[in-house]
Amino acid sequence: MTEEKEGLKKKELALKLIERLKTAYPDAGCTLDYDDAWKLLVSVRLAAQCTDARVNVVVEKLYEQFPDVAALAAAEPEEIEAIVRPCGLGRSKARDISACMKILNDQYQGKVPGDFDALLKLPGVGRKSANLIMGDVFQKPAIVTDTHCIRLVNRMGLVDGIRDPKKVEMALWKLIPPKEGSDFCHRLVCHGRDICTARTKPHCDRCCVSDLCARAGV
Ligand code: SF4
Repeated sequence: MTEEKEGLKKKELALKLIERLKTAYPDAGCTLDYDDAWKLLVSVRLAAQCTDARVNVVVEKLYEQFPDVAALAAAEPEEIEAIVRPCGLGRSKARDISACMKILNDQYQGKVPGDFDALLKLPGVGRKSANLIMGDVFQKPAIVTDTHCIRLVNRMGLVDGIRDPKKVEMALWKLIPPKEGSDFCHRLVCHGRDICTARTKPHCDRCCVSDLCARAGV
């Protein structure tokens, strides 16, 4: 098959997968709790190698003590570390959160910038986090290539043997209509947690895309 035909086939597959997952997970969204953009920025940093559920508990305590950007910016990294330690990697996460909040406070009037490149320059913010913020906070096109996304799009056949997050993101930009990207990635997380699991054999027998998936039953 030519590269062009292969691309078209993958685009068609993407559209079908998007619709199926929409039906299966109509309300899928971010599972990190936040009521302000800066809090999502804090939570995504804490969520590295930690569950969203644990982050949601830990941040409650953090915000009791430091209720806004200015308070966190003024906090010593050690004070932040003492609270966020249960999320793991406490020292580096606290250092990044402290530096990030200082920048928001000093350069952005305490607000989160709605520009992808500006987000990427913030300490501890990589492409995955910047995309999440762009999609969830600013309702802009976003492709969030977390571990579930990477595993599932490989299994489903949207990409072939690509594991590098940025390469997967770039491949998906060519296949997923921009306005669908953010929700599609949230739905992949739900599907990856419930059905197309990482640590057990995927539950292809109760999967809503088994007739479309390249790896069904393998
Ligand atoms: S058919 Fe199986 S491998 Fe494919 S997405 Fe569903 S659970 Fe995952």
